[in-house]
Amino acid sequence: MKITDIFKRQEKTFSFEFFPPKGYSSTLELGINIGQLIKLAPSFISVTYGAGGTTQDLSFDLIEYIQHKIGITAMAHYTCINASKTKVESDLDMLFSKNILNLMLLRGDLPQQGFKGLNQEFRHASDLIALARSKNRYCIGAAGYPEKHPESLDIDSDLKWLKNKVDQGADFIITQMFFDNDHYFNFVDKARRFGIKTRIIPGIMPITNFKQIKKFSEMCGATIPQRIITALESIQHDSTALYSAGVDFAIEQCVDLLKRGAPGLHFYTLNKSRATVDIFSSLPHALIH
Ligand code: FAD
Repeated sequence: MKITDIFKRQEKTFSFEFFPPKGYSSTLELGINIGQLIKLAPSFISVTYGAGGTTQDLSFDLIEYIQHKIGITAMAHYTCINASKTKVESDLDMLFSKNILNLMLLRGDLPQQGFKGLNQEFRHASDLIALARSKNRYCIGAAGYPEKHPESLDIDSDLKWLKNKVDQGADFIITQMFFDNDHYFNFVDKARRFGIKTRIIPGIMPITNFKQIKKFSEMCGATIPQRIITALESIQHDSTALYSAGVDFAIEQCVDLLKRGAPGLHFYTLNKSRATVDIFSSLPHALIH
């Protein structure tokens, strides 16, 4: 089923994101974690795609498994950086032939040397989105950045290009993680003023590892409010206390997002289930139905 059809039935969607596991034990672990998460009846599940290239076939295998063996609507992430048009067309055709109709279309991170030495048939996600839309058979998601993409000078120029992604054919937007809900709501308000009418689903990353989250947030430009840093810094080496504080913070964040009208939540699970299960099952029933 296309995610746009799910939108017609569900005012709010709840979705989970996984990445393809590399080894035997991480595959087993992922199986167990997916088993826990599907009990929450997600609206859809997405699988990331490594722009770098080593796990791309694993992404396709996992997406197929989720959609056809587990029976949950799946969305394949797909990146175009350094890809040829021939490869992209063949991959998109292959996904369609397996009835994978939902695609999160991205550029992928630029390496340090930028586009130098890379195939430049696709320079931006919008080029990929336009190609997929021309086939007229996919439901397309695109990435949005409440605190702007790190390469953008300011939020206005980033939103101009986000509007272009929607004009080229994106049906909905999922955001980068953020930790201050005002960033999300200001972003949605501004996006509406730029003429973006699609759903903008907030991306949630539960904090369960302080060092790791600091590194991620620095890389993607998502700021962690000082009050959270202060609260978590002193307990960062006490894994039980950190877990519980991180989950409490995420519950507070999700409740506030839903109360203020967010159209659902997309969880970056990092292939774990415990935090997402604990957060999701603590959300008031009235907010998730
Ligand atoms: P773009 O939309 O191309 O934007 C990149 C930059 O170029 C921005 O600064 C934008 O403002 C600017 N820009 C856009 N269009 C134009 C234009 N036409 N002309 C000039 N400037 C333009 N990465 C992965 O490798 N695999 C994944 O599975 C993955 N999943 C993700 C899922 C989500 C929800 C998010 C938020 C990110 C994900 N990423 C993933 C990371 C993403 O690939 C990076 O953030 C990447 O640096 C930008 O991708 P994009 O699709 O937003 O690029």
